[in-house]
Amino acid sequence: MISLTVFSIIFVSLMLCFVFYKHFLRTTRTELKAFAQIFRNSNSNSIITEFNNSKSNNIRITVIDKDGKVIFDNTANPTSLPNHIDREEIKEAMENGFGESTRFSDTLEEVTNYYAIKLNDNAFLRLAKTSSSIFIIFIDTIPIVVFVVLIVIIFGYILAGRLTKKIMEPINNVDLNKEPSIPYDEFAPFIKTITNQRKQIEEQIADLQNRANTISTIMENMNEGIIILNNDGEILSINKSALSIFEISPSELLNGKNIIELLRDIELFENIKSTLAGNHNEMSIEHNDRNYRVIFSPVNFLNGAIILFLDVTEKTRAEKMRQEFSANVSHELKTPLTSIAGYSEMILNDMVQEKDIKNFIEKIKDESARLIYLISDIMMLSELDETSSESSKEKVEICEIVHKVKEDLFIKAKEMNVSINIFCDETHVFGNNSTLYEMFYNLVDNGIKYNHQNGTIDIRISKIDEDQVMIKISDTGIGIPKEHQSRIFERFYRVDKSRSKKSGGTGLGLSIVKHIVMNHKGRIELNSKKNEGTEIIIYLPNTAK
Ligand code: ADP
Repeated sequence: MISLTVFSIIFVSLMLCFVFYKHFLRTTRTELKAFAQIFRNSNSNSIITEFNNSKSNNIRITVIDKDGKVIFDNTANPTSLPNHIDREEIKEAMENGFGESTRFSDTLEEVTNYYAIKLNDNAFLRLAKTSSSIFIIFIDTIPIVVFVVLIVIIFGYILAGRLTKKIMEPINNVDLNKEPSIPYDEFAPFIKTITNQRKQIEEQIADLQNRANTISTIMENMNEGIIILNNDGEILSINKSALSIFEISPSELLNGKNIIELLRDIELFENIKSTLAGNHNEMSIEHNDRNYRVIFSPVNFLNGAIILFLDVTEKTRAEKMRQEFSANVSHELKTPLTSIAGYSEMILNDMVQEKDIKNFIEKIKDESARLIYLISDIMMLSELDETSSESSKEKVEICEIVHKVKEDLFIKAKEMNVSINIFCDETHVFGNNSTLYEMFYNLVDNGIKYNHQNGTIDIRISKIDEDQVMIKISDTGIGIPKEHQSRIFERFYRVDKSRSKKSGGTGLGLSIVKHIVMNHKGRIELNSKKNEGTEIIIYLPNTAK
């Protein structure tokens, strides 16, 4: 505004100078003309006589003869002046009887108005008046203009400050967080727009917050580890599972830790590079004894990547176990079948003496019985694998089962002269009747098989709290050496293979027991000392909880 004002002042000053100057010129001309008209009917001599001794410093009077020679000048010596025949005003006066012109001085500082008339004797009277030129007039006004401009700037500054403050005060006091009051009508559309935008932003923030909460809740409750990386491989976000996989605390990630610092793995690094370049990748890694399937997906809008760590340890173990189991099953089945085939072939080829045939057939019968045990144990295991732990559970009279098992194994126990003692304080558990029978059968069977002659087996069933029943089966048998104790629940694992085989063992009994306990959401413990005996403790729930 100050610039505009300064410009206006200068422009107006210029215009005024120009207008006044024009007016001044016109006045001067009129004055010269009026003065010249007085002498219209005079001749040169009378004029010279009249002005000879009068020195007017206001108007210059010059008399010029008809040839242009200066014969009188009240301000200069006529002889020193050049011929004036070519002067514009003289030329005009020659033709029209009067002539006028305006000329600037060489320095443009002055301007002179000329007015000439023809006299009676054909000579010319020329009147001239010199005044300052428009430039000088303008230069003269400059101090005034500067002064005015300065005043305008000072006043403008003070006034603008006060005015702005006055205008801005109500605007500054507008509280956009509340429903704002409108300070001026002109401000209403602005306030309305801002208020609407504020509401929109609040809604959008709430919406974003909700989404962020949903996403973080999902991420935090996932069992899979998730890591989100930026373009440089720095961790932008990591969930609880991923933190626990890499055993790091969230504070360690504050300075944008790079994923490579967590897992120094070339293949992982290559996959991240490729994912950041926009490709989908997958790989498997082993970390802290666990197996992970790692899935890399690019995130275009982030220019980064999402890495998903799926814990496939159990799956891998199960897969390995299945493979081992298949190999073991084939092996276990092959041995008795080979024996059966061998014995039969020998009998068929008359390679066995008459008196030994019965012996051979007995061996074939034993091997067949072994096969039957084996197959029924395998079938039992696969059945346990398939049936869910919750299926067909009921209140089971556990003491009845134990007594039935004792009855069914009576002959076997008698052979070894092993006595079985049952102490039943609690009569029921919550479970599956037939699998619990299988469990007790295997355990008592083992207690007999791996016992000494005249040994004992004690079976104690008691309630340890509202929800649990404890089953303790202890024998006075050969015991299990410490180094084997951790493996005897594995499928086909036997401490003494020949003893197990001789007594009809398949190596699957305890793994079936463990499986049954697990299906009952129970727990199994083993205490055993070589040559002293073995104690197996099982905790089972006695409620449906
Ligand atoms: P098996 O059919 O060979 O008995 P199990 O799975 O029942 O197979 O048992 C695995 C191994 O654990 C047995 O071969 C045996 O060596 C050992 N074992 C099991 N129960 C007893 C026990 N009560 N006393 C001593 N050793 C045992």
